[in-house]
Amino acid sequence: MIQDKTDAIIVAAGSGSRLGYSLPKAFVPLGEKPLLYYSVLKYTSHPSVSSVILVVSSSMLESANAFLEDHPQFKNSTIITEGGDERWKSVRNGVHVSQAEWVLIHDAARPFITDEVIDSVIQKRECYDSVITATPEVDTIRTFRGDIMGTTLDRSQVVRVGTPQLFRRTLLSESFSEPSLMDPPPTDEAALMERKGVTIGFAWGDPLNFKITTPSDMQIAEALIERDKKMFMGR
Ligand code: C5P
Repeated sequence: MIQDKTDAIIVAAGSGSRLGYSLPKAFVPLGEKPLLYYSVLKYTSHPSVSSVILVVSSSMLESANAFLEDHPQFKNSTIITEGGDERWKSVRNGVHVSQAEWVLIHDAARPFITDEVIDSVIQKRECYDSVITATPEVDTIRTFRGDIMGTTLDRSQVVRVGTPQLFRRTLLSESFSEPSLMDPPPTDEAALMERKGVTIGFAWGDPLNFKITTPSDMQIAEALIERDKKMFMGR
């Protein structure tokens, strides 16, 4: 194990069918680059990140290798590996490639990750083995059943959970092989930590680091990329 090192695992093996493309979401063009470009750029250039492990579906391995050929600036610090048919399997495959003490898990579908958010998550590892990012909930949140409304939840007590999520690698890696933690399959890795009884710390994220899921998210992303064009292009 490499002490104190942090690898970033960018999971990009989802299909993205809700976006309405036949192409997997991470490869859908955004501002003339595939969506995954923006998070690979951020993590390969972050001083606290040693390697980026890019997890793609088996059908996109060739495209991912071509992406690295087209972007030689990412090549030395990026490893490509194959994902699974569920997000947690993609994360597990990425974690198994890492040798670092810490892993930062990030969704390729969140292109607007900032250095500040990455820094604030990494800072919290002094206190916690597991740290997630969260943003405040601003809407009124209600439960429902069928077409009948249930009760309003106290929004000051809930947050929206995103990525990056930081874990001590061995802790996460061991969790994937504990059957009792895997049922039902977790929607994120913090759920595994919770089942294991590990305290989960959090750092405030950035609402602009939203996950692109629907065509309207894509329209917002296009507008943001247009605004930031000068910052991203030509690198
Ligand atoms: O589907 P969803 O948008 O929630 O996926 C979040 C992230 O997890 C995306 O970046 C997606 O590519 C990734 N993922 C994955 N392997 C899967 C499913 C999702 O790497 N089987």
